[in-house]
Amino acid sequence: MASLRGEAQLREDIVELGRRLWARGFVASNDGNISVRLDADRILTTPTSVSKGFMTPDMMVVTDLAGRKISGERNASSELKMHLAVYELRPDAKAVVHAHPPLATGFAVAGIALDKAVLAEVICTLGSIPIADYATPSTAELPAAVARYIKAHDGLLLANHGALTVGSDLYNAYYKMETVEHFAQISLVARTLGGERVLSRDEVHRLQGLRTMYGITAPAPICTDAAETAGGGETCQVVQAPVTDGSRLVADSGAAPAGARTSPAGDTEIRLTYRQLAALIEDAVRTVGSGGSDG
Ligand SMILES: [Zn+2]
Repeated sequence: MASLRGEAQLREDIVELGRRLWARGFVASNDGNISVRLDADRILTTPTSVSKGFMTPDMMVVTDLAGRKISGERNASSELKMHLAVYELRPDAKAVVHAHPPLATGFAVAGIALDKAVLAEVICTLGSIPIADYATPSTAELPAAVARYIKAHDGLLLANHGALTVGSDLYNAYYKMETVEHFAQISLVARTLGGERVLSRDEVHRLQGLRTMYGITAPAPICTDAAETAGGGETCQVVQAPVTDGSRLVADSGAAPAGARTSPAGDTEIRLTYRQLAALIEDAVRTVGSGGSDG
């Protein structure tokens, strides 16, 4: 349970993270919302109809887990319903961030999930970022669309709308939003330059092993097998990776650059040595580890 002192800090944290969302262009106008659990029965959240870049601690709204206001001069966003669905389904989730970061939202509008095996640190942390079906904002449809994927994922794209991340605290959820947008940016650049070269299925399984070794918490395991993915990302984090043989950095003949090879499906993959992977994971762990409330 958050003490009064703790609640004051959480209000300050939400103000700071709202400022960052606005400063980075992740929200326009009065878009976006942030929430955090105060205790077993109460949520602290951002007010509606306010730019998230210019909030003050006294503007926050306290509600119960059904979204009924307990205190606050302003009202919570109608999108709070989506946050409440997360809290109901994910007892481990302590905070939720929703924003409309333009590149990630562009992928959501194009109907392209961020689920290719291209960045080791993203595979180790978020796994993959699926797209929740389109639903009218502020209606009960949206929590239902989110509910389908949120048990297995900490980050989602919302079709034709934006993105949603959850975390073990406010900063952890916010940093995941940064990662989603950064991943979208890198994916867009790679696609502009001719397409992503994709890590092999073997490498993805090795990353899953490293995730375990480094104690990176995730709501569900990574899966790459078509049979496992029958649930469509509802029970595991589907990562698109080609099947290949071998386990080392492999040079290839043909058009692909050294270190890359093209699978029968036409995806080009990159192979990394264990040492390169370990260095990437250590970076990722440092990033996750710095996600404390000190910012
Ligand atoms: Zn929205």
